[in-house]
Amino acid sequence: MSNEKSSRAIWSGVIRRYAAHLPVDAATSIVTLHEGNTPLVRAPRLAAAIGGKFDLHLKCEGLNPTGSFKDRGMTLAVTKARERGAKVLVCASTGNTSASAAAYAARAGLRCVVLIPEGKIALGKLAQALMCGAMTLQVRGNFDTALALVRQLGETGEVEIVNSINPVRIEGQKTAAFEICDALGDAPDYHFLPVGNAGNITAYWKGYSEYHAAGECDTLPRMMGFQAAGAAPIVDGAPVAHPETVAAAIRIGNPASWQSANAAIAASSGHIGKVTDAAILEAYKLAAATEGIFVEPASAVALAGVIQCQRAGLIDDGTIVVVTLTGHGLKDPDTAVQHAAVQPVTVEPDLAAVKAAMGI
Ligand SMILES: *Cc1c(COP(=O)(O)O)cnc(C)c1O
Repeated sequence: MSNEKSSRAIWSGVIRRYAAHLPVDAATSIVTLHEGNTPLVRAPRLAAAIGGKFDLHLKCEGLNPTGSFKDRGMTLAVTKARERGAKVLVCASTGNTSASAAAYAARAGLRCVVLIPEGKIALGKLAQALMCGAMTLQVRGNFDTALALVRQLGETGEVEIVNSINPVRIEGQKTAAFEICDALGDAPDYHFLPVGNAGNITAYWKGYSEYHAAGECDTLPRMMGFQAAGAAPIVDGAPVAHPETVAAAIRIGNPASWQSANAAIAASSGHIGKVTDAAILEAYKLAAATEGIFVEPASAVALAGVIQCQRAGLIDDGTIVVVTLTGHGLKDPDTAVQHAAVQPVTVEPDLAAVKAAMGI
């Protein structure tokens, strides 16, 4: 096989694949961990379990290199930061941005400092940032406090912010919409996703809109955003001072991309709703139990949104529904073990005991 053929056959990240739609050129030196190209999995058992007569597809973003969709934006943010000669990357994070920033900074040979809310980060995410060598500052406050500090650091001109307030992050994240259109042959009818800082819903809508304008898809989806009931500023129309939810990745009270999230919902005739922690945990368990797809609690918020809309009769039969599952279940093993329907059973090391436990 010629080099040209082999390089075409091998996936080498979202920037190379979608360069024509991104702010890069042939001279750009790309920082990539080959993110993107994540599976879009049809989920008939899950659809049936919730009584849906629609065609349900799950975009499994937990299969990105650091286990969440944040990698799509981070490859471009770190590429551009290095191109500009930045030496220090900083971000505030509920966990996944810090895991991604730490990994891409290591890949680029740049220094990384992450600000996380003390004691509020899922174990896997903390492990990722530490292993990749990021300076990890646990702020005595919530995500919103940490982001405010990061904005102030940005004003010093000494650091590069890699939160989604950096517009380049949105550019990278819009590639997920391109992949979905490429996989389905067109845009879906509905696109469900969790909303925290609201960068991702902004990015998806930008992606679908640009693909549509470029003639790469004929239709546009309704954007269906969901927040956790204890952290639902966009739904409730006011910032939340003390956001609380089991979906730690979206425990955010004052989203940076609030306006553009509302714009996406309005322009797409979409919907923004909220779901309780009980509904989130129900959806969390159902995805794993019916389809073998283990996601983190924040990802289950989107599925809980599908269930809520299905029960309210808001999803038409025969339509194509895509749900972005934003992060991998292994990120947060504590929540999984605490809430799993099944718990380990200890048995004596003999066949009779094993058979008795199995009920055979
Ligand atoms: C970041 C994140 C979200 C929220 O995305 P926003 O762009 O902040 O709205 C949802 N789920 C997971 C797993 C995340 O890491």
